Amino acid sequence: MRESVCVCVRLSTCVCTMSAAVVLEEMLIKRSQQKKRTSPLNYKERLFVLTKTRLTYYEGRAEKRFKKGCVDIQKIRCVEIVKNGGVAIPCQNKYAFQIVYESNTLYIFAPTNESRNIWVQNIKEEIKHNSLIVPKFHPHFWLEGMWLCCRQAEKLAPGCEEYNLQRDISRKPLPPIPGEESSNEVRRPPPPPPPEDEEQEEESKEEVVIAMYDFRGPESHDLPLICGEEYTILEKCDVNWYRARNKYGEEGYIPSNYVTEKTSDNLDRFLWFCKNINRAKAEEQLKNEDKEGGFMVRDSSSPGAYTVSLYTRSSGDGLAVVRHYYIKETPGTPTQFYLAERHLFDTIPELIEYHKHNAAGLVARLRYPVGNQGRNAPTTAGFSYDKWEINPAELTFMKELGSGQYGVVRLGKWRAQHKVAIKAIREGAMSEDDFIEEAKVMMRLSHPKLVQLYGVCTQQRPIYIVTEFMELGCLLNFLRQRRGSFSFEDLLSISLDVAQGMAHLEANGFIHRDLAARNCLVNESFVVKVSDFGMARYVLDDQYTSSMGSKFPVKWSPPEVFNFCKYSSKSDVWSYGVLMWEVFTEGKMPFEQNQNHEVVLMVTKGHRLYRPKMATPPIYEVMEQCWKEQPEERPPFSDICVLITEALETDAPSTRSPNGYPGNST
Ligand code: ADP
Repeated sequence: MRESVCVCVRLSTCVCTMSAAVVLEEMLIKRSQQKKRTSPLNYKERLFVLTKTRLTYYEGRAEKRFKKGCVDIQKIRCVEIVKNGGVAIPCQNKYAFQIVYESNTLYIFAPTNESRNIWVQNIKEEIKHNSLIVPKFHPHFWLEGMWLCCRQAEKLAPGCEEYNLQRDISRKPLPPIPGEESSNEVRRPPPPPPPEDEEQEEESKEEVVIAMYDFRGPESHDLPLICGEEYTILEKCDVNWYRARNKYGEEGYIPSNYVTEKTSDNLDRFLWFCKNINRAKAEEQLKNEDKEGGFMVRDSSSPGAYTVSLYTRSSGDGLAVVRHYYIKETPGTPTQFYLAERHLFDTIPELIEYHKHNAAGLVARLRYPVGNQGRNAPTTAGFSYDKWEINPAELTFMKELGSGQYGVVRLGKWRAQHKVAIKAIREGAMSEDDFIEEAKVMMRLSHPKLVQLYGVCTQQRPIYIVTEFMELGCLLNFLRQRRGSFSFEDLLSISLDVAQGMAHLEANGFIHRDLAARNCLVNESFVVKVSDFGMARYVLDDQYTSSMGSKFPVKWSPPEVFNFCKYSSKSDVWSYGVLMWEVFTEGKMPFEQNQNHEVVLMVTKGHRLYRPKMATPPIYEVMEQCWKEQPEERPPFSDICVLITEALETDAPSTRSPNGYPGNST
């Protein structure tokens, strides 16, 4: 019976009596829950003692020990190993496991994999009847303000992986049951078989990556990157920055979004692969390039599948067209890929290579890769690792871009070459200390559809906020100035950009609070990005902050916000519906004829904005979903992204150019 089990693991003392009921006892290392992880001082040796009611840890050895802390077994909600993912552990014990209790996570480091397995299995056994077991957990560390597994920046953000209390971690995963997977399901190539001892392998293996862009490495602690070269990852410092070594043995920090894994099924390293490009953007890019046989491979609207978009100037009727072909997969294993029947390939790169030389059913050969890499390197989360304070002497000021609630925004350059937008905060406009504290978190929010915060200048007044420069300015003016020139796909594509940026905020538990077209910006590639997220919290102006104030964005607010100031990702979804309406009216003012107090009454009675002419019924349906009175009935941004992507691929044939989905798509 369990009650009499006493497992001694490298223990200094093991009390094997029924009365003490010590299940396990061992010297382990505990990471401080409060402080920064980087200092080895925060990893302390503790004697851990597990009984049927408590997990207690002591300073010192068995003879003379001081109790330092204790976790009630009943309060434990999850115990599981922590996947290391390349993070350097600054103590001699390298095998981490986690104990989640109440809202805390305790990281404990065991000396061997075996010791860790014994601890995890025994604690699992003790907690199996607990009522508060988590449905999902975080398999990686919480490190410097971010969950490494899912990049959420909120410590209390829900887990991202299903938690299985029964899982025996010492066993290898079972192979799939043949025939159980649906044969027409679209899948990525299967991952390689797990190594003999997955965890041990993970701890020791060196990860090699390939640079997708050049990186100058502005500070001496950075490592410059050269596109196409290989680098070894030494440490994943946080989600945005890694420490790496180049082929000459030089080491330094690199931005994580500039490199990609060097594995055979990773398409990121190919120039022709454009990950996040939708159909409309693909067509635009291929047409702009205007090269016969110009092509790209992009994510298709069905998750996990890919599409080849191909441009030819010499289609049958002499018109330039873009054709889109799904990359199909054969059922069963091993999976093979094809564009046209009879030509099957083991990998997508092999398939592309073949069709570079043979049209074989396509409208043209794949002659010229049109990629988005190399030209526009993505933004980095700050200019360098751990750098958020910018020296104002390194900024030069150029023309004025506009002015807003906080003051004047100017175009500028950092170190004479990197274009940036600099917001000078007017005195008395912002609660500065609160913002400065939050800026460090905001800098870590890095996504292609969010305007990147590069840093702040806080040692002088006025303080400056330095962000990514967006050449075409705010979305509202962009829509108004080009009214009449947008196609249905253009408007969908704008809506999708915003939804993707918002989905990233939502996944990180970050609330925008003032989403509207005026708070989005457009860059020279017509990419729309969400700006000013979370900034409404620092405004010092009653007219803006009070729901009765004249500047309060009532027309973008759901009832729970204008009544009770109850903000959530779901209140952002409501605002997003209004933003979609602004997009599909090409920049009209919502409830144009009404004052704020009238809008409050109307919305409370159930009145909603009308369907804009450019919005098809399914698209208006998405807006209506966003304006459900009950916040929980509104869809999450992740679902909105799927709905809009599907509409972009399949909707509104009437507004399509002749380049519809031909070929193998059915
Ligand atoms: P505030 O936050 O003080 O209200 P905004 O962020 O609305 O100020 O900026 C005011 C105007 O400045 C915007 O409407 C836009 O035209 C311009 N602007 C702001 N940030 C940028 C940027 N990053 N790139 C280009 N223009 C910008």
